[in-house]
Amino acid sequence: PRSSVSELLDSLNPEQRVAAEHFEGPSLVLAGAGSGKTRVLTTRIAHLVQEHGVPPERILAVTFTNKAAGEMRERIGGLLGGEPRGMWVGTFHALGVRILRRHAPRLGWERTFTIFDAEQSLRQVKRTLESLDFDPKRFNPKGVRSMMSGAKNQLVTPGQFQQEHGEGFDLFARAVAKVYPAYQAALKDQNAMDFDDLLVKPVELLQNDQTVLGEYRRRFAFLLVDEYQDTNHAQFRFLQLLAAEHGNLMVVGDDDQSIYGWRGADLRNILDFESTWPGSMVVRLERNYRSTAVILEAANQVIAENVNRKGKTLRTDREGGEKIGVVECFDENDEARVVVDEIKARYQNGPALHNYRDFAVLYRTNAQSRALEDAFRRSGVPYQIVGGVRFYERREIQDVMGYLRLVSNPLDEDAFLRVVNYPRRGIGNTTVARLREAAAAEGAGLLEAASRATTLPNVPTGGARQLEAFAELVSTWSARAATTRVGPLLEALVDELGLYKALEDEGPEGEDRIDNVKELIAGALDFNAELLDELDPEEIDAFSELDLFLQRVALVADVDRLDGDVDSVTMMTLHNAKGLEFPVVFITGLEDGLFPLSRAYDEPATMEEERRLFYVGVTRARDTLILCHARQRRRAGEYMYGRLSPFAESIPEALLVPRVSPRLESNHRRSSTPHRSRPRFEAEKAGSGFVSEETFDTPINQDAPRYVKGERVLHATFGSGTVKEVTGFGKDTKVTVDFDDVGRKRLLVRYANLEKD
Ligand code: ATP
Ligand code: MG
Repeated sequence: PRSSVSELLDSLNPEQRVAAEHFEGPSLVLAGAGSGKTRVLTTRIAHLVQEHGVPPERILAVTFTNKAAGEMRERIGGLLGGEPRGMWVGTFHALGVRILRRHAPRLGWERTFTIFDAEQSLRQVKRTLESLDFDPKRFNPKGVRSMMSGAKNQLVTPGQFQQEHGEGFDLFARAVAKVYPAYQAALKDQNAMDFDDLLVKPVELLQNDQTVLGEYRRRFAFLLVDEYQDTNHAQFRFLQLLAAEHGNLMVVGDDDQSIYGWRGADLRNILDFESTWPGSMVVRLERNYRSTAVILEAANQVIAENVNRKGKTLRTDREGGEKIGVVECFDENDEARVVVDEIKARYQNGPALHNYRDFAVLYRTNAQSRALEDAFRRSGVPYQIVGGVRFYERREIQDVMGYLRLVSNPLDEDAFLRVVNYPRRGIGNTTVARLREAAAAEGAGLLEAASRATTLPNVPTGGARQLEAFAELVSTWSARAATTRVGPLLEALVDELGLYKALEDEGPEGEDRIDNVKELIAGALDFNAELLDELDPEEIDAFSELDLFLQRVALVADVDRLDGDVDSVTMMTLHNAKGLEFPVVFITGLEDGLFPLSRAYDEPATMEEERRLFYVGVTRARDTLILCHARQRRRAGEYMYGRLSPFAESIPEALLVPRVSPRLESNHRRSSTPHRSRPRFEAEKAGSGFVSEETFDTPINQDAPRYVKGERVLHATFGSGTVKEVTGFGKDTKVTVDFDDVGRKRLLVRYANLEKD
């Protein structure tokens, strides 16, 4: 194995090599996309182990996804000729869980705590709002959750938040000041943590417990972090606490790829690294090994428009390259067809032999995947979708998981409420409400109260008996879980509950759901904690297999469902594509208002983040990049007309090959022959608000005034203003205009008599 590390080092350029051979002290690799940052990180780990004899268990590596962690582990395993047992590699969340599973009791939780996902935590916010008599219409639960989450990522405790906002002018923040502590208390009562807690609680632990801190400081002699530009304050603190003594912290990242500002990531972490860690070694990499000169030049031009950046050069030895296609399409379905046809034409064809896995289709919002997915299904081209309707978020999966969670953690009230009457067992809302009142009065947990429901005041007798039977059922399964493998356990549970029957009764839709439950069971049957190399044997012993299974599922991030073994096209949002690379990349929906999202126009910083996101998309491509945009697109049920995104326009024309989709091309041909072009009017006569696309041979609204976002207009009474949004169709086209004097108005174009200003 020794020779392979030196081979690896030999394959690096001098700057990469300096970084990979760096031994002690803080270091920063700040470099553009595709310059080998991740490769440097991996090589350095192998080097530490091989050349400096650092035991793998003294290394902590933080990656952006569990998938990246798996790859890193595999690669190092290959280099070292065996599993790097004991080395911790994972996302911040996964590492947080491991720490908490060991030390939760010190914080007042049990080690088997439940992890609430976004949905569960939102439901808890709603319950907390209710219990405090806040009107959820005035205090939007998502808004509340997001403000709390922001506070947590800043390590602002409920007490500090209360102090800062409890008496303030901002009524919303005042409400959150009340909700935040109550929400935390509710989680604790249920022995649960939400995703933010997985970061915040370990920091709290390390901050307050010198013994534990000392233990981890000794254990982790070397810390390495990928994608450092997207860390938030809590993560910054976490690293700082661990690395304070030895300073052996290496971070790699790219300020131009910071795309999680909206989730609390703080670019200052990377920009201030040198001043936070005096004496840092700083390495810049300037050579891109991923993309052709054409793609790289486009990326450089795009990102150069951002004002707020450090600025760096990136060059490649791969001269020339295929020009970037810009395809104008009719609508989202036409766009999907263009993408699929292009993939079919290039599949195992063209200059390079392509497999399906060489293609990625990227988009700005999850909803865009629907049209694409339909086109892929029709064509038979295999695809996988990362994110979207996430498997574990499906209703039937949540129901089954609800049972597993309750069996694993009897204090989990969210799970209790989810399954107490599913499948129906005659426990009505009134019964549950009474049970909750009685339990709250005694400060008891719901399941525990349910187990003696017939003795509680006000609980209807019939329902009470059912509650007791339910509690009995859960406790039987809890006992079984301690000794049974999770696969057979789940199979038997689904059977005993009669879930298939319940789903069958739902009709055809139920069949899909049954398949999903079967898929879940198959996954559980495959699950074998002993094979999870990220776990230490002592961790495996401390928990039931069910606990470990739940822990695993809770952490499976969207992007981890990417299965590299299957030959299929990958579809995902641009956010999920970070760090990945593909020979052929499509970026779809490049319309002004969609990408960049229209709200980016309100805020220069948001616009810059959108532009960085585009930069991330462009730099995923190795050989071929194709940009698609549609003239019209249905979004949330309404048609939007978009012009080409300014992002695409910032690419020099010399690098582009613009074309129109075959469908638009045939429209053009036909409409240029007399009598063929049908006036808009005829479609309107048909009377429906929706005009089927087939009715049109000419581009829509050619003769009607069309407004585009950002355009200045003049109205007889309201004066001058700027068009913010154009929605609707034909005679129903509406524009939202921000008038200089009278503010925002939504107008029906056909009545407004707007003039171009
Ligand atoms: P991103 O910013 O997108 O995360 P990165 O800087 O982490 O990119 P890598 O993914 O490590 O870049 O590398 C990009 C590609 O270039 C990979 O395919 C990698 O194997 C290859 N590469 C990196 N360094 C070299 C090198 N010295 N010689 C040959 N190929 C290299
Ligand atoms: Mg990388």
